[in-house]
Amino acid sequence: MISKVAEANFPSRFGHFRIYGFEGQYGDTREECVVLRMGKLEGEEAPLLRIHSQCLTGDVFHSLRCDCRSQLELSLNMIAEEGRGLIIYEHQEGRGIGLLNKLRAYELQDQGADTVEANERLGFEADLRNYQLPGDILTYFGVKQVRLLSNNPDKIAALQRAGIEVVERIPCIVAPHESSQGYLQTKKQKMGHLL
Ligand SMILES: [Zn+2]
Repeated sequence: MISKVAEANFPSRFGHFRIYGFEGQYGDTREECVVLRMGKLEGEEAPLLRIHSQCLTGDVFHSLRCDCRSQLELSLNMIAEEGRGLIIYEHQEGRGIGLLNKLRAYELQDQGADTVEANERLGFEADLRNYQLPGDILTYFGVKQVRLLSNNPDKIAALQRAGIEVVERIPCIVAPHESSQGYLQTKKQKMGHLL
């Protein structure tokens, strides 16, 4: 179902990862995702896992409309601290609705709709994600159990349907608005360290 199309070294400011490109074919849909792996995943303790849906506005432009970037950074830091774990970065902007539709949803939200209403008014289900691809990727790495970095308990059932046992869920709690300050602070510390 899935195939690995690339694998390379990936040094980052969080630490040294391996980066992978995967693609999978599910019915008529071809899905792509990027995986960051640190350390050996097999062993006594289930590794940390973050399944992150691509968020251009948050991950790249530091949007404060969501806390995707902060959750991603928290996950990268926690994995780096433990020296092992996996980020599965899904190429599914806006929880599967697509980038431009996400912007249209923001427009509706500016007019007073909440996220669910906005998606429904655009004709999308509230959340289009399923976890077949992450499940297959974990199977590729020989991982059967994970400690899931997520604020969404629904993801546990979705992963379990894909054959992966979630032995623990670790919330990615980031205080709103502190997220950007925290990031700047980390940057300053890093710069201070360099100087
Ligand atoms: Zn986001």
